[in-house]
Amino acid sequence: MKTILPLLLFFFILDLTAADCNTIRTRYECPGHEKYPIHLSFDDGPADRTPALLDLLKKEHIPATFFIIAERIDCQPHRNRCQTGDQAACQSLQYCLEHKKTLQRTIREGHTIGSHSYNHLHLSTLPYTEMEAQISHSKQLLAPYFNTSPPLFRLPYGDGWFNRAEKPAVLETLHNYGFQHIAWEMSAFDWREADQQGDKILQTVMHEICTKKRGVILFHDGDSEQEHIGRTFTLKHIAEWIPAMRCVADFKPLNYFYKNVKVIKR
Ligand SMILES: [Zn+2]
Repeated sequence: MKTILPLLLFFFILDLTAADCNTIRTRYECPGHEKYPIHLSFDDGPADRTPALLDLLKKEHIPATFFIIAERIDCQPHRNRCQTGDQAACQSLQYCLEHKKTLQRTIREGHTIGSHSYNHLHLSTLPYTEMEAQISHSKQLLAPYFNTSPPLFRLPYGDGWFNRAEKPAVLETLHNYGFQHIAWEMSAFDWREADQQGDKILQTVMHEICTKKRGVILFHDGDSEQEHIGRTFTLKHIAEWIPAMRCVADFKPLNYFYKNVKVIKR
């Protein structure tokens, strides 16, 4: 009996999980039993809550890609102003140094990273030299951290990618700087404030996974306007969303979808 009891308990838990997933699949209108290959990506960080997200991904053994706003780790301007006695700049310097540590940890824990420009502007609307500077400046700042070959880039708002037919210069410039652009097949739409309540984002995510069936999904761990606040709703709730997503998703690394992308050990 002693040996059978843990075994029975194991099958009971297994069965319970399957039953839960059936409920989840019914609730989110995702019939069948198939699990779809999905890669999680997070834009606009590093933010103050990114370490909590890294804890979760580690616990769940999920690989992800983080697209970094390079200004977040550009600490020298804050340091210069801090040295003149600007207390707000000294505080910003502390945040910036924390972001750098978070980025180092992200890489150490096996996630891939890419550039998300210098400071998140609509690149196709900028004069050429400013657009190029967004790409070159971010490449320079993130060079010590890139852990793929080629290095990756995701355009803010997808601007320059959605409209690549009318504005080809943005993707061409990325290519000239050796970047590979990584778009997304699915979006959590977690930037929409109206969706930041209840399980609306999870509903969107489950619908995206179960209708599109494979690819990279876009989330946010940071916020492009409120530097130190972070995309709190996603980061507060993603731990609850992962078990439901797991019922329909098989989490894969980025190069499952982009076979040419080589991961470099740092
Ligand atoms: Zn963004």
